[in-house]
Order: sequence, then C-alpha cells, then structure tokens
Amino acid sequence: MTTTPTVGSPIDANVRYEGFDTLYVGGMWRSGGAGQYTDDLDPWTGHSITPIARATVRDVQEALETARDAQRDWAKTSPGLRAQVMRTAGDILTARKQEFIDWSVREVGSTVGKATVEWEVARGEVYEAASMSYHVTGQILPSDIPGKENRVYRAPLGVIAVISPWNFPLNLTTRSVAPAIALGNSVVLKPSEESPVTGGLFLAKVFEEAGVPAGVLQVVTHAREDAGAVGDAITTSPIPRFISFTGSTNVGRGITRKAGIKRMALELGGNAPIVVLADADLDQAVDGAAFSAFHHQGQICMSGNRLIVEAPIFDRFVDRFVEKVRSLPVGNPADPSTFIGPVINRRQLDGILDKLERARQSGAKHILGGEPTGPSGLLLPPQIIVGDNETPTAAEEVFGPVITIIRAEDEADALRIANATDYGLSSAVFTGDLDRGVVFAQQIEAGMTHVNDASPEGEAHVAFGGEKDSGLGRFGGQWVLEEFTTVHWISVQRTPRHYFG
Ligand code: NAD
Repeated sequence: MTTTPTVGSPIDANVRYEGFDTLYVGGMWRSGGAGQYTDDLDPWTGHSITPIARATVRDVQEALETARDAQRDWAKTSPGLRAQVMRTAGDILTARKQEFIDWSVREVGSTVGKATVEWEVARGEVYEAASMSYHVTGQILPSDIPGKENRVYRAPLGVIAVISPWNFPLNLTTRSVAPAIALGNSVVLKPSEESPVTGGLFLAKVFEEAGVPAGVLQVVTHAREDAGAVGDAITTSPIPRFISFTGSTNVGRGITRKAGIKRMALELGGNAPIVVLADADLDQAVDGAAFSAFHHQGQICMSGNRLIVEAPIFDRFVDRFVEKVRSLPVGNPADPSTFIGPVINRRQLDGILDKLERARQSGAKHILGGEPTGPSGLLLPPQIIVGDNETPTAAEEVFGPVITIIRAEDEADALRIANATDYGLSSAVFTGDLDRGVVFAQQIEAGMTHVNDASPEGEAHVAFGGEKDSGLGRFGGQWVLEEFTTVHWISVQRTPRHYFG
C-alpha cells in the first residue's frame, strides 16, 4: 500500500516548538532507551538551555530499521507530492525565522547576522530540493546487439545516514536531509552533540509540520561521550546505502575505515588561503579577508585560515587589515551589532590557545591579541599572526578567530603557498584583473575559489565540496541529485538472440 501523506496544515508560527528532550523515531517524540539525558549548553552563558535525550545503540538500530521500512512507500509517492512537502517546509521555515535565530544564538553562539545567513541558506536548500523530485531522469542508449534497447533508470538509494557538525548546523543538515527526502530516500540524522536542536530536532519539527510521513526522517541525539558509539552504530550498519558526513577530517578518515562498502560524501576540514595580489583593490580585499577570517568566530570549514599577500603591498595591507579587525564588535551574540561572539566550548578554546602559543614559540609575530572574556570565558577577541606557511596557525586548521598573514614574493610564490596544504575546500583571490583572477583560481587545488569575494560561500544550486583531505563528493543542485540516487541498467531484447552456433 502506498502512503498518501497529507501536506502540512496552516502554519501558526506564534506557537513555538517545544519538547526538544526526545529522540524522533517513527514519527514518535520519545525518550532514549536508557532514559538518560545530557545538557545542551549555551556557549555565551555556560548554562543549560534544554535537556537532551541520549540514544542507545539499540535506539539507533530501531531508527535505521524504521527508516528502511518507511522508505519503500515514500519512494512510491508522486514527485509532485514530495515537491509540495518541501515547498511547505520552506514556507514553515520562512514563518519561523525569528524562532530559529533565537535558538541558533543560544545553542551555538551564532551572532544574529550569522544565524540570519544560516536560516536563509537552509531555506534555499529546502526550496531547491522541491525542484529535484521532477529531475530524476533516465536515458535510452543504443546497442550494438540487434534488437536490443539499453535503458538506464535512476532511482532513490534507500536509507541515507546524515551526520552533521555544530558550526552551521541547520544549513549543513538541511543540505543533505532535504534533497535526500525529496528524491524518495529516508533519513537517519545524527546531529552534533553541540547542536541537537538547530542541527536536527528543529528541522524534524518543520518536516513533521510540513507532512513528511512517520519513519521517513529519524533524529538520534546523544551526549559527547556517546558520539563514537552512536556514530559507529550508524556507519557500520548494513542498512544505510549512503553516509553523508560533514565534520573533521579525523572522524571522516575513521568512517572510511569502518563503514565497509557503502557510498559516501565526506565534507571535511579546510585551510582556506585568501590571496591578495598586488593589483587588488585594498579596501575590498581588507573587508573580504576580515569577513573570511572572523565570520562566526572563524568556525567555518571555509574560513580564511591563511592570508597570503604579495610583497609590494604587504606592509600597507597589514596596517589596513589590523585597523579593520580592531574595529569589529566583539560581545554578546544576541546583540545585533556584535560581529564576533563566543567560541563553541572550552575544548575548542583550549585548542585555539594552544595553536597560538605554538605559533609564538615558532617565531611568528602575534600582532593582534587579547584574552578570552565573557560570562562563560569563551569570548576570544580576533587574533592576527604574521608568520609563514609552517607556522602552526597556518599549517593547521584553527577553527577559531585567528588568521595568519604570510608574505608572498610574487604571484607564482602566492600560488605555491596557497597549494602547500593537505586541504582543498574553499579559497579566494583578490585582484584588479578578473581574468588574471580566474586563471589563478583554476590553478588552486580546491573545490571552490571565489574571485574578489570572501571564502565562505554557499548556494543551494551550485557544486559544494572539497579536494584532497577536505573530502569526497559534492552537494548542491544536480550534483547532490546524483549523489543521492543510483542508476540501474535495464536492457530489453526485442528479438530472439542466438547464443549458440
Ligand atoms: P567532528 O568531526 O568532531 O564532529 C562532526 C560529527 O561527527 C558530529 O556529529 C559528531 O558527533 C560526529 N562523530 C564523532 N565521532 C563519530 C564517529 N566515530 N562516527 C560517526 N560520527 C562521529 O567535527 P565538528 O567539531 O562538529 O566540526 C568541525 C569540523 O568540521 C572542522 O574540521 C570543519 O572544517 C569541519 N566542517 C566541514 C564542513 C564542510 O562542508 N566541508 C562544514 C562544516 C564543518
């Protein structure tokens, strides 16, 4: 029997979602099997904002089995219905904009500006997914065998496991979950322990309200100490046909070793170079570089980690850049004028401070600094290091409000430095000559390069992803459609064949 879900009822955004202390499995909001909870902490105050249910390995197995059973009926629904559900989900997100922003500020320390961008990108991903269900097309191909017709059908994969990080949680979850469901798959989603609401449960409430049937989307939440066990239970299970993982290169590498023969997209760490050539418009380059380095406290996989500046403008650029960065408002993320808020947690802060200390010990100059402050002690003001490509803050992904400025002798040297990294996610080049910029961009070993723009960029219909240790696979538009579907060659022999003699 085919399920005929009803598309969501009228949206009442005045009634805010509540009850985030549960898992979401089989359309039920229920506690974890062991009845245990953990705290979801606000990085600005350090206080708990809601208890979060801890899933057991058995809960994960149940979520996977439920998703597998529900997918068969979901795949039979019409593309029009799946598109309509996605459009309704987009409308619900539109109506619940402020509600999401409030959660994002409190749960991950987003500034109001960052939370607004995240809401906008995620909403774009849902509307983009609405267009996908009609673009699942096949092909008819010729054959050298008389009487044969080759057909290639495209079909959903089955269960897609989505594991997401905490930094842009709604966006990085939605870019997988929305197309996966729109294309007729079901999903088991494991948001980060730092963002169970904005990376999972909030979206589940939106999709439930939009009419996604029970079992098509499951959300399993957990405590930090359970991440390995819950994550492994998902990735090593034979049920998911695809693992969509966004997070660190270390955890991604572990998944490739454990997951066995499964398709996967790994969107991993980055170490973006921002290259400023001597003919660049300095004001534009200073602003673009400062935004790249410090938007969301530098906690973006595409954040500018190294600022590579050509020698003739180096001193002038550094003076202007320091002046700009000094002027960035640092403080409470709920204040709409704040540009830099708290980092996510103590472990992350300690890691950033350790890299800064090692950078100083290596002989690099720490030209702009400041101690962590704020109610929870997690508010780190922007930090600027002048060093080389081996300086620890340049050689490693910092994931915090830190940039290392590196002098390049000329354009060729700038390109050499930009590519001297194991990563290859995003990058940027500033120049007064757009063609020169494009030729330079084509030589950068990365999945994404922006000419005369900041390095953190994402548009729902464009190919997003990395090269080298930054990962495998692409999100966005036709690229994610290919990732989340499979093809089946079916040949039709219209006339009898003679196999013998
Ligand atoms: P992380 O790798 O610590 O965690 C990511 C997710 O993996 C979380 O949900 C976590 O609970 C889960 N996890 C942990 N152990 C696991 C296991 N054994 N099996 C399965 N899942 C497991 O990363 P993070 O700290 O949340 O995010 C920061 C990192 O993510 C940075 O390196 C950043 O560059 C990267 N990132 C990449 C992109 C991208 O699109 N390429 C986007 C955002 C963040």
